[in-house]
Amino acid sequence: MSGEKSIESNLRFVEDRIRAACERSGRNPSEVTLVAVSKTKPFSDILEARKAGAKEFGENYVQEMMEKIEEASNISDMANVKWHMIGHLQKNKVKYLIGNTALIHSVDSIALAEQIEKEAAKKDVVMRILLEVNVAEEESKWGFNTETVKDAGKEILAFPHVKVLGLMTSAPYTENPETNRLFFRDLNTLAHELYEDKLIADQDNDFKLPVLSMGMTGDYEVAVEEGATMVRVGTAIFGNRHYNV
Ligand SMILES: *Cc1c(COP(=O)(O)O)cnc(C)c1O
Repeated sequence: MSGEKSIESNLRFVEDRIRAACERSGRNPSEVTLVAVSKTKPFSDILEARKAGAKEFGENYVQEMMEKIEEASNISDMANVKWHMIGHLQKNKVKYLIGNTALIHSVDSIALAEQIEKEAAKKDVVMRILLEVNVAEEESKWGFNTETVKDAGKEILAFPHVKVLGLMTSAPYTENPETNRLFFRDLNTLAHELYEDKLIADQDNDFKLPVLSMGMTGDYEVAVEEGATMVRVGTAIFGNRHYNV
């Protein structure tokens, strides 16, 4: 508590930085959606962020996300928020997300997309997804690489209940965000190639296409300069995470 800034002032700070990055790169700030990443944080923090104007929340763990969605369902202020699944997803958890989640960012295998197709078909809905790309080819990270993502996009075209809106990446952790600039630029180029090839949807009521979900607390300003349409920011809004509570 002591010395920490409020969620509201943190949110204003991040929004200002996004606006400034847009100005530097000649972009319209309305092109960039801020997803507030609330994993490990209590529901009261989400409410506080909502009251301060946050409308989109990102979570990594299905059970935690479902508990929060359940809690939100009783609160009128939370009625119009969008929930984003951004963490690695196990196939057996997919069924919980369909119908509750605006966008699954972390689709990292064809088998996972196939499972989403199956569960979305059961509920007769179309699930919006992004394909996750491991831009730096890190051993520790999930995702397609820049080659396999195109083949994946082709296969997923055959799934009528899955709609690919764009690409997502988590760039390497770094003290110097400039070191991630070229990864972001590469993802942007790649997304536009897939879009040209019609492997990414060209129309959506809710999202500007192609979606480029990239940039976290350490590097979101550079990501915006390189074309991010969605940034996923946790720590800069909610403070450090404590995993062992
Ligand atoms: C936790 C997480 C974030 C947010 O990270 P911060 O550095 O706290 O902003 C963004 N994206 C993914 C995939 C995450 O797991």
